[in-house]
Amino acid sequence: MSDSQAKFVSYIEENQKKLIDSLSEVVSIPSVSGDASYRQDVFKMGEWLKNKLSTLGAEVTAHDLGVQDLDGKEVPLPPVIVGSVGSDSSKKTVLVYGHYDVQPALKSDGWNTEPFKLHHDENTGCLFGRGSTDDKGPILGWLHTIEAHKELGLELPVNLKFCFEGMEESGSEGLDDFVVKNKDTLFAGVDAVCISDNYWLGTKKPCVTNGLRGIAYFKLSISGPARDLHSGVFGGMVHEPMTDLIKIMSSLVTPQGEITIPGINEQVAPLTDEERKIYDVMDFDIAFVDEATGSKTTVSDNKPDVLMARMRYPSLSLHGIEGAFAEAGSKTVIPRRVIGKFSIRLVPNMDPAKVIECVEKHVESEFAKLKSKNTMKLTPDHPGKPWLADPKHWNYEAAFKATEQVYGVRPDLTREGGSIPITLTFADALQKNVLLLPMGRSDDGAHSTNEKLDLSNYVKGTQLLGTYLYEIAKVTQ
Ligand SMILES: [Zn+2]
Repeated sequence: MSDSQAKFVSYIEENQKKLIDSLSEVVSIPSVSGDASYRQDVFKMGEWLKNKLSTLGAEVTAHDLGVQDLDGKEVPLPPVIVGSVGSDSSKKTVLVYGHYDVQPALKSDGWNTEPFKLHHDENTGCLFGRGSTDDKGPILGWLHTIEAHKELGLELPVNLKFCFEGMEESGSEGLDDFVVKNKDTLFAGVDAVCISDNYWLGTKKPCVTNGLRGIAYFKLSISGPARDLHSGVFGGMVHEPMTDLIKIMSSLVTPQGEITIPGINEQVAPLTDEERKIYDVMDFDIAFVDEATGSKTTVSDNKPDVLMARMRYPSLSLHGIEGAFAEAGSKTVIPRRVIGKFSIRLVPNMDPAKVIECVEKHVESEFAKLKSKNTMKLTPDHPGKPWLADPKHWNYEAAFKATEQVYGVRPDLTREGGSIPITLTFADALQKNVLLLPMGRSDDGAHSTNEKLDLSNYVKGTQLLGTYLYEIAKVTQ
C-alpha cells in the first residue's frame, strides 16, 4: 500500500463522525422523485450535491432535462449533476454514477423512526433513514474520498467524472438520451465506469457484480363478444376469451419454471465449468430466499441451482389478467375481453427481437390449435437487453484487489436478476467496461421500511471506493 493510500484509509477510519454527519444532512432532504409534491426537494438535493462538489474543487454543471408528465401535471425534471476532478492525461479517468433521488417513505408505513431523520442505532451499528443505502451513502462515499484527499493535501490517483441523476427511482426519465447525446463531450475520455447502486448477495461477504438480466414484457389480448355475457344465458354457446387465454398462458411455462416456448432456451449461453464453480463458493443460503419470500417455495433445494435460476438463466412470470373478474363473491360473468400479462427475464446471449419473434410464433400456433372464433393480439413492450461485463478486465481486477485489501476476502462475482438500465446505456454509448461495486448489504431494505446502511459498510465501503481508484492507477494497460 502506498503512503497516500494508507493516509486516505486512516483518514476515513478517523473521520467517521464526518461521514455520519453528512449522511444525516442528505437523508433530511426528502428527495422523492415519484411524487410531484416533493419535486422541490429533489431539486434541493441536486443543488446540495452541486455545491458540495464545487466546494471540494470539482468542476460541476447541472443539466436541465426538460419536463415530465406526473399525475397529470407537467413538472420540471431534476437536473443531472455532472462533475469532474482532475484532467491529468497520464492518469486513467473513471466515470462514477449515482442517484440522489429516493423512494417514498412515511413513518406510518411501518418505520420505527422518522424516515427522513437519520437514526444511528449504536447497538446494531445501523444508520437508519430513507436513502441511506440507496443511493446517498454510496454517493457520499465518493465525495468523502475526494474530501479526504483534499484535506490531506494529496492528489487523487485517477481523474474522476461524476454523473448523478435525480430520477432513478422513476425510470431515469431523460437520462439515456442525455448520455448518448453527450458521450463525446461531457463523457469523453472515460476509461471505465463504476456504479455503486446494488447490494451484497448476503450480509457478510462483499461482492462485485458483472451482470444484469434484461426483460421482454408482453400483453396478450383475446376478445370475442361485443359485451360481457351471462354464463347462464350464453355459457356453452360462445367461444370464451378467458378459456382461450388460460390455455395459451399455461403453454408458456411449467410449474417448475421451465420455459416451454420453442427457440427460447436454445439462445442461452452455455454454462462453462469455470462459471459453474463461482456459484458453489458464493455467500448464499436458500434460507435468504425463504426469509425474503416468507415461505419455503424455492423450485430447487440446491444452492447453485437456485443462484443460477436468478443470475444466469431466463425466467418467465405470469403477472395478471386484465378484464378478469377478480373481486370476492361468485359473479357469473363471461368477460368479453381479457389481456394476459407476462414477461421473460433475458440473459446472455438472448436477443430481444428474436425472443419476441419466438413468442409471437408460439402463441399464434397455440391459438390456432384452439379452433376458436375469438381474436388474439400480442403486444410486446419495448424490451431491455441483458448486460454482462468481462470480469477479467482491469476495472474488475482493481475492484477484486481493493476488496481483498479492505475486507481481507476475495469478493463473490455475482449477477443481479433484475435490471439497472443505465448500466447498459453507459456500456453501449461509451463502449467501456462497467463495474457494479456495491456498498450495502442484502438486508438493507432499499425501497422498503426501515432502510439502513451499516456504519461498517459505510466506512469500509468508502475506503473500498478510494482503494479501488488506487488499484486502477496501478494498471499499466
Ligand atoms: Zn438505487
